[in-house]
Amino acid sequence: MPLDLPFSPESAMLADPFDAVGLRAPVIDRNGEFDDLVAMAAQMLDAPVALVAMDEGTQLRVLAERGLGPLTISATQPLLAGLGAATPMRLVLDTSAHAGLAHDTLVRAAPGVRFFLAIALVDADGQRVGVLAVADYRPRTSVRPNAQDTLQRLSRIAGGLVERRLLEHRTRIAEQIAHANFSGVIVLNGLGEVTFANPAAEAIFGQPLLVGTPAQLLFPDNLQTDPERTAGWLQDGAPGLASPEGSLDLRILTHSGDLRTLEAARCAWVSGGEPGMALILRDVTERRLMRDRQRVSPNDELTGLPRRTALLTMLDASLRERARPLGVALLGLDHFRAVNDTLGHSIGDAVLQLVACRLQFSLPPSARLARFGGDEFALVYAGIDQDLIQRHLRSVLSDLARPCEVDRNLVHIEASIGMAMCEPGDEDSGELIARADLAMQHAKRAGGRRLSRFEPNMRVEALDRRRLDLELRRACEQEEFELHYQPQIDLVTGEPTGAEALLRWRHPQRGLLTPDKFIEALAQSSVNAAVGRWILQRACKDAAGWPMICGRKLAVGVNLFPVQLDDDRLLAEVELALSASGLVPARLELELTETIALRDDGIAATALASLRARGIRVAYDDFGTGYASLSMLQRLPVDRVKIDRSFVRDVLANRGDAAIVRSILLIARNFDLRVIAEGVETTQQADMLRDLGCQEAQGFLYSRALAPADFARWLATYPQAAAHA
Ligand code: C2E
Ligand code: CA
Ligand code: CA
Repeated sequence: MPLDLPFSPESAMLADPFDAVGLRAPVIDRNGEFDDLVAMAAQMLDAPVALVAMDEGTQLRVLAERGLGPLTISATQPLLAGLGAATPMRLVLDTSAHAGLAHDTLVRAAPGVRFFLAIALVDADGQRVGVLAVADYRPRTSVRPNAQDTLQRLSRIAGGLVERRLLEHRTRIAEQIAHANFSGVIVLNGLGEVTFANPAAEAIFGQPLLVGTPAQLLFPDNLQTDPERTAGWLQDGAPGLASPEGSLDLRILTHSGDLRTLEAARCAWVSGGEPGMALILRDVTERRLMRDRQRVSPNDELTGLPRRTALLTMLDASLRERARPLGVALLGLDHFRAVNDTLGHSIGDAVLQLVACRLQFSLPPSARLARFGGDEFALVYAGIDQDLIQRHLRSVLSDLARPCEVDRNLVHIEASIGMAMCEPGDEDSGELIARADLAMQHAKRAGGRRLSRFEPNMRVEALDRRRLDLELRRACEQEEFELHYQPQIDLVTGEPTGAEALLRWRHPQRGLLTPDKFIEALAQSSVNAAVGRWILQRACKDAAGWPMICGRKLAVGVNLFPVQLDDDRLLAEVELALSASGLVPARLELELTETIALRDDGIAATALASLRARGIRVAYDDFGTGYASLSMLQRLPVDRVKIDRSFVRDVLANRGDAAIVRSILLIARNFDLRVIAEGVETTQQADMLRDLGCQEAQGFLYSRALAPADFARWLATYPQAAAHA
């Protein structure tokens, strides 16, 4: 805001400075993180009401809530007053026992809040940034201590999130101020006459704006799309305008005769002791033109199908008309990114067009199809019962599975479909779509190429997954991960040659967790890359500190997440881990599994070739369990294979497994690969493997994975000097 503007405290009536410059406040709960937190808080305390709010000056802005209904909260209400660094938590088991709370809005409401628990969210400096609160209409006699603990922890997560959002918010305000010169500001007095205009406003109009000019002259009625509304908006804004409601488009004729559209926001403004109004103006002519142009075509350009919004409008109409049965299906292409990445976007586009054609071709007359975005399509079935819908969708799946040729490339299209039926009481298309989406995610996770129907437990599962994801993010931030080391042994000499780094999670409540409890979720989570990077660094650093054992330096094996190979940063990250630790490349072995290697997008091959060219070793993990192991070895050359422990387990008892082990060793010899057997638990297994020609082994027979200090002690039982170097 220009500093020379007449300013008075009344201008502080502006609830949100963004509104003043015509920009909406940032969307706070972008990823639904706060929704998750609120859901968890409510669940933890089994309470119908929960909320997270952020401090905004003297106000509280609710970021996410459940059960609050039409009620509002304020920073000054008795239930929240004083909550902060000094009083970090407020627990009221029964509000009716406290006379001072009787006039609190939440307590006074019907039904009134009886039980209330609030925790102050604080930033790193201990300053209050918001509140996490849970409430019930019934009083309580106690609260489980561990529920309180969990709420405390949730509040720490929430505090961090709110703090980050506040920071973004402030950065945005700072940006706004920096750009404020680009906003025209005109101040009108109570009579609607100009009392002030800043240079930006004059630039918009292309002429000086004289004091005393009536607003109607600047924004003539005959130019406005809704003259009456505009006139009202310009007039009633004057005195006592406590909450500047949204913005309005005003049309003007500039000095040179151009018709321009300005987005205007207004706020109460006292100038010269008289109440008036400030208009903040932004030229949006081009933007509106673009929006109108988009509005003209509701259809997707690529496929010619209706877009998402068109489908949602139609679905809402069907819901209102109570067209039943009503079903929705979302169809997502599996591995479409790989098509784009390997064959290029024009082939990807052609594939989408082809899918659209195939879908349209088989569409029943009363069904509707739309492109939902990216590689997703949506189908709406009105008046068709569930069995028929399912039959149609199954035929769609098999129809899509027919290979197609695009530009002489044979492309296999596979899809996952989720469907949901409208239930009694459904009023909102969003809810129905969300259910279909959960079902589609379910189909994708189950391996794709399938149809799955929404079931209520999918919601619970999704919540569990999100909760685990949230926890994993915290674990990453709070450094709850550890690496343990499992030794690898030379089967001939019995001496250690290296160790595999295995991830552990020291969970604050659940204790030390092995990967089976979390590794899948972690591989999918938003922190996978960060944790993967940490594992690399930590493992290299630890290995660099290991002593020389029996005359040799031990190597360290590191397991990779699939995303780590997706990313051309892998080599750089490995280099960084090596240089930071001083470990030589030959002492690092990266382990990858078939799921990583099997993708035939060429990314893995390139990444591996450059790693190996640097002298870093690569091992193929869980070897023998997949289909394509042999062809893999040709396409993705590695340094050694790790025989999966399922074969080792039965190598003595089961002739089939012995044969597999034998053939793996044979193949390995042919490809000049070294072999290590995993999961060796008995000396008989070790003897047999050695006799078959396997060089190394790893397993409980020698040791479990050990924490770094225990591993050091374990190493100390071997001669550390150069024995026969
Ligand atoms: P993996 O890479 O096949 O690791 C070997 C697993 O077998 C380890 O389980 C190890 O403790 C277990 N194991 C070793 N010897 C024996 C034995 O004699 N008998 C039996 N029954 N089991 C044995 P863990 O530590 O639970 O790890 C499970 C999986 O989690 C690993 O399988 C790997 O796929 C994944 N994982 C572990 N750490 C990491 C990591 O740092 N990064 C990534 N990306 N994945 C990891
Ligand atoms: Ca492994
Ligand atoms: Ca393995």
